[in-house]
Amino acid sequence: MSFLLPCPHCGPRPVDEYACFGEVTTRPAGESPSLRDLTEYVYFRDNVAGVQREWWQHRDGCGEWFLAERDTRTNEVLSISEPEPAPPV
Ligand SMILES: [Zn+2]
Repeated sequence: MSFLLPCPHCGPRPVDEYACFGEVTTRPAGESPSLRDLTEYVYFRDNVAGVQREWWQHRDGCGEWFLAERDTRTNEVLSISEPEPAPPV
């Protein structure tokens, strides 16, 4: 498997330069989520056969973390974006 993935800073690079950290998940809402909701959040993924949003890091390049929408069937990268800053705690 080889394809080009565009880094927001470096431009298109071979996917071998990156680390993929899987699909973007959403933390359960509320201050006291149920054990079931937490278990699903930590352990289960949708594993979509199609377009999914994923975390990537340009590990062997600039080190940047970013989000990519990728079609898992074709490895076509539809878009990339930088993550929103974390809200203040
Ligand atoms: Zn880069």
